[in-house]
Parts: sequence; C-alpha cells; structure tokens
Amino acid sequence: MGRLSWEGWQRHGQMEEIGVKASALRECLFPNLTDHEIAQVLSRGCDRQASLDEVAGSSVAWRDAPATLPHHPARVDPKALFLGPRAENADFMEQLLLEVFRDYVHWRRSFHPEDRAAIREEDGNSPAFKRFMAGFQVELRLLLDALQADVPFHSPRYMGHMLSDVSLPAFIGYFAALLHNPNNVSWEVSPVTTLMEIEASRHLAKMIGFGRTPQELSLTWGHITSGGTVANVESLWVAKALKFLPICVRGAARELGLEGLTAGVQGKNIEDLTPWDLVNLAPVEALDLRERLIKLHVERHCEAPVEETLNRVKESLKRHDILSLGDHAFFERWKGRDALRPATLCVPQSLHYSWVKGPALVGIGARQTTLIPVDSSYRMDTKALRKALESALRERRPVIAVVGVLGSTEEGAVDPMDEIAAIRDEFARRGLSFFLHCDAAYGGYMAACFRTPAGALRERADMAAEYGGWPSNGTYRSFAALSQVDSLTVDPHKLGFVPYPAGVVLFRDTRMKDLISQEAAYALGGSMERRPGEVYIGKYILEGSKPGAAASAVYLAHRVVSTDCQGYGVLLGQTIRIARTLHGRLLDLSKAIQDEFTVMPLYRPDLNVVSYLFNPVGNRRLDVLNRFNMALFRALTIDPARPATSRPFIVSHAELTHSIYGSEGLGRFLENMGIPGHLFVSSSRLPGSEGGGNEGRDDKVVVLRTACMNLFSLEEITEGKDYIGFFMESLPAVLRRVAEEMKSRADTMQ
Ligand SMILES: *Cc1c(COP(=O)(O)O)cnc(C)c1O
Repeated sequence: MGRLSWEGWQRHGQMEEIGVKASALRECLFPNLTDHEIAQVLSRGCDRQASLDEVAGSSVAWRDAPATLPHHPARVDPKALFLGPRAENADFMEQLLLEVFRDYVHWRRSFHPEDRAAIREEDGNSPAFKRFMAGFQVELRLLLDALQADVPFHSPRYMGHMLSDVSLPAFIGYFAALLHNPNNVSWEVSPVTTLMEIEASRHLAKMIGFGRTPQELSLTWGHITSGGTVANVESLWVAKALKFLPICVRGAARELGLEGLTAGVQGKNIEDLTPWDLVNLAPVEALDLRERLIKLHVERHCEAPVEETLNRVKESLKRHDILSLGDHAFFERWKGRDALRPATLCVPQSLHYSWVKGPALVGIGARQTTLIPVDSSYRMDTKALRKALESALRERRPVIAVVGVLGSTEEGAVDPMDEIAAIRDEFARRGLSFFLHCDAAYGGYMAACFRTPAGALRERADMAAEYGGWPSNGTYRSFAALSQVDSLTVDPHKLGFVPYPAGVVLFRDTRMKDLISQEAAYALGGSMERRPGEVYIGKYILEGSKPGAAASAVYLAHRVVSTDCQGYGVLLGQTIRIARTLHGRLLDLSKAIQDEFTVMPLYRPDLNVVSYLFNPVGNRRLDVLNRFNMALFRALTIDPARPATSRPFIVSHAELTHSIYGSEGLGRFLENMGIPGHLFVSSSRLPGSEGGGNEGRDDKVVVLRTACMNLFSLEEITEGKDYIGFFMESLPAVLRRVAEEMKSRADTMQ
C-alpha cells in the first residue's frame, strides 16, 4: 500500500476495498476491451468466439454500458421464465443446458490444450471401468425413481409452503457455475462469482431504496448467505457489536493515549459519557466515532507507514470489543451505578424461529428477547412496541435491536416499518437508540413492485391501478420506509424463484461489516497488497465455504428479471392477484356451502399468503374445529403411504397458539365462526390428557395456509376453469368426506 494520506486511505482502501468499481465485473471478463470494442464483439457473426462473447456480454453489459448494449431487460414474460407446469418450455431449457455444458467442456479443453488426456480410450475399455459405470447408472436410476415421490412444487396444484418453481435463468445460472464449482468464501477461488455476489446484492439494495447510483450503493454492504436464518443471525451479530462499539472505542482511545474524542448530538467528550450514554449513541454515530478514532490515531503518527498505524489501532479496538472479550469480561468492568443491565431485543410475536436461535447464538440470550404482540391483522402492534421501549428506557435496559417483519412466516403480514422507524427516531432523541433490522426474508422481493427501473419509488395510485387496488396505504408506507432500516434480510430462494441456498443480508452502512471482520491470511486475503478487482468477502461473513453457483443464479436471475416493476414487480404483482382471487373465492364458497360448512379466511392478506379454516355447521367446540381442520390438512398434504398424485391439491397448515397470539383478536374471529371465544385458552388451562374433560377448549387454532407463489394458478386447468376455481370445486367433496370420517370415528368411540 505504501505511504498514503488519510484521504488517500479513505478513497483507496476504505473499509478494505469492497467498494468494487462499477465496472469491475466487466473488466474481469473483458480485461482489455473498451465499451466500443465490447459492443463490436457482441454484434459480430455467430462463430464460436463471438457467440461465447455474446453470452458473456449479455450478462455483463450493465450500468455504465453504452446505449448499444442491452441495458435494461425487457418487461418480463412469466410464460418464458419457467419450465412450465407441464414442462412446456422443455426444448428451450434443454438447448440452454446443452449450450452451458458444451461451453464448459470447451473451457476445460482450452486450458492448456497441450496437456495429454488422463483418461484414455483403453481405460474406458477395461471391464472394471465398464462395471463401475454400469453400477453407477443403476444407482442413478434408483435415485431418479426415489425422486418420483417428491413434492410437485412446479404444479399450481401445489398451494402450500413458501416454495414454488425456480426460474429458468436462476436454474441455468446455478448449473453453469456449478460446473465450475467456485467457492465464494475467497476471491482466489471465485474471482468471477464473488463479483456477481456483490453485484446481485446491490440490485437488492437498490430495490429497497438504499441508493440509486453505483456510488451510493458502494457505501452499502450486502452479500449472499445460505438463507434468511443466517442473514438474521449475522445482522444480530453486527447489531450487538455496534451497540457496545462506543465503549470499545473509548477503551482503545485510552489505551492509545488519544484524547478529545467527542460524540453525540451535544458533542460531549466521550470521557464524560456514562456507559448508558455510550450504548445509546445511534448506530451511525457509533460508526463515525470509530472512524474518528482511527483517523486521529493515523494523524498523530503521520511519520509512520499508514498500514502500521492502522493495524495498531485495529488491534487495540479488537482488545476492547465485546465480541473478542466475551460478555462476561466485557461487562464485569462496570460496577455499581455504571453497571449495564442485560440488553434486550424486540421482535414481533409472529417471529420466525431464527429469532429464537439468533439471540442464543450471539449471546444476547433467547430469554432476554422482548416479544411484541401483534394486532388483529397479525402486524406488530406499535403501541405495544412503544410501551416496551418506555420500560427499557425507564429501567435503563439497552435495546440491541428492534426487528420488523415484512411478510411474517405464517401470515405474510407486513409490520409497519414506517411507524417503527419513526418510533426509533423519537426514542433516539430521548436517549434510547437501537439498531433497526427488517426481516423481509419472505416479503422482500415485493419491494420490486414499488420501484421504477431508475430506482424511484412509485406512486401508490399507479400501483393500485396495476395491481387491482394493492397495496393498502399501510403496506405502501411500510415498503416506502425500507430505506430507513440499518439492515435487511431477503431470501432469493423464496420470492426470488432461485434454487436453495440463497439468502441475502444488506447493511445500510458498509462500515458495519468491519465490526465482525476476521483475518485469515491463507484464504481471506490477509494483509497482502490488493490489486483492483481483488475482492475478499470471506472475512466479513458468518459462513465459510459457500457456493459461487448461488451467486451466479441470483445474478443471472436479476439480469433477466430486473428487481423493479418491470421484472419481479410483474411476477409478484401476479401473485398478489392470485391471493386476492383465492381470498375472494373462499368468501364465495362460504355462501355456496353455508348449509353445511362455515368457511373463513383468517384475514385479508397484506401480501400473497392466505390462511383459512372450515367449521361444520352446528359445531361449537374449538377442539372439534381444530380436529376437523387438522384432518382436512391431512387429506390435502403429502402422505408417506400414498403417491402425491392421490392429492387433488396440496396445502400447508399453521397452528396459532394462545401463548403467542393471545385470545383477543382470535377470540373475536372464532365467535364469527360460531365458536365461543372463551374456549380458546392457554395450555395451562387444558387437562393433561387428550379427549374428554376439556369441554371444547383448546390452546390453539389450526388453519390451512397457502402461499400463492405459482404464477400459473389463474391459467385454465380444463376448459373454462382455472386452478383456483378447480380447488374451490374440489373442496366440498373433501370437506364432506372428512366430516363423515370424523362422525363415524366419534360413533365408534361411543
Ligand atoms: C423463511 C424466513 C426466515 C428464514 O429463512 P431461511 O431461508 O429458511 O433460513 C426468516 N424469517 C422469515 C420472516 C422467513 O419467512
């Protein structure tokens, strides 16, 4: 690195080179070509080299490319995007797979073509070779046979979990890189796909409003994880380090003999702040403070090589950091008045179980979590959040983070991120700051509906006109506020239609990643001098080895389906329409079969998850209601004893427990179904054993649940009837059969 001024260091190496140049990926694939030359390559005839370049070119012509290159993908056509429920696009996919494979073979053969073949003709003729191959083929066929029993996620008849078909570009992108098998933990073993990972994450950062220009986006940080769970845990890891960062900075300042550092709105000397004041600096203030410490130290020692001074200050920070010291050693230094109480984390009660694992893993403690109740629409009750924060302020309990959920796992409910962000700002002014995370693992891609290709927020009226009245005011305001969160989780392997494993975690401020950085010279780059385009991300992530293929899949998916209203917005808008259709048709069905069954959707969906339940007319027992819906679910889910084809449709289910959802909203809902609300009780009020004695009470409500993700659900399944309509038509017979079976079982029990 040589001698650099502070500004030079900031510009050049700030936070370790992740500010990849806008054109890094292209430079990497076309090292010496100008834009004009690339355009020429792309317009050349179809000899092999040109067609190869064309394949590569269409996936790297981006952002600052000249107008002659395809800049924005065309509006997505869902029918061209998937293999299709009946493999309608099989020929196209086969052609792509073949092209990818042949290209890969060519790549192998053109790497030092002078090398001799290692597997020669005579090898292939040996009996052992042939026996082995034959055995392998037999095993493969057995495996293929076994897979016949798998769940038909591709069919619109699959109406269950948050899982559907994967898109062709995602699949092909995965397959192409899978052949190469790069490991995105280290640039040395993933020089191409590491850049794709960063770029694909930036598409999502732009989608949620973190920035529009390459410059703005390079100030954010995001990467691919194995899924939402790891993304959530990583954000919590960062949030914890950030909460206690100011205390760490003060320790380092004392050790390095640096005086005069100030912080907070009033610009007080950090020596005059209590631990409570320090942990309540806002996230950005804490990051600024760390940066000012580093700068002060470098300036004090301007005679020494800058990398040496940088290392010294970083080592000192590590010595005082809570993640290095561990909670016990960190907190035991504060006694009496200065002692800090155990920190908490606020999550809505609709939480995903990763919010139980995360706090346990990063040492916050699963039991220190404050669960915020949800309202009757299953969204976080912000009045309750406010109350929890008031008591944290009163009891001087540090709040590490507040988590809002965008698309809760059970209901697809959208927490009011705008209100939560406003509450965050208000409490910061009153001296209680915290990190704001949004768990948009499920609903994150819906943000595409809200963005123009240029990255601007759309008007709600335009959206409502396109999506049949959606989004509601509340949902609109919540998505519009996403740019205000500190970090966000979004899963390409859910609404991105990308194969597993692919989650993404995004941080608003790229400096956050430095709080968890690890050095490992052998793989993560160590202190080696970097050349432009060498990007080591492994030191900033929770995981180790991870598939470059996942990055390639997300990248190609985003290149073909843009993360705005022309791309994913079209697809996800359609899923909203499907959910609304299902919701509406359930209401129609309830009229049609009202003499036999009551049908109720649990709520009007915020996104595309619909939950519903059925009650035989005359039943006033909650336990019977639950048994009925459970039996219904059994009839409409896969069964180890039967082939999947025995099911006309496949749904999933959820159990809303009293301990999590409370009786208020659900009690009222049950009354409308003819079940007295007081029968919904906490588990402690139920008799121990099954069956008699509970007088109809239960501690849960069983519902059927459909994540509407298949884009072909409104296509005709037969003449004049779509899949949803067919589902509605099939239901009464299933309901009657299940009711009969329950009745005959009850009769035989008597
Ligand atoms: C799916 C989901 C997760 C977990 O994501 P995985 O990819 O399954 O690890 C976390 N939070 C929410 C809200 C989810 O829907």
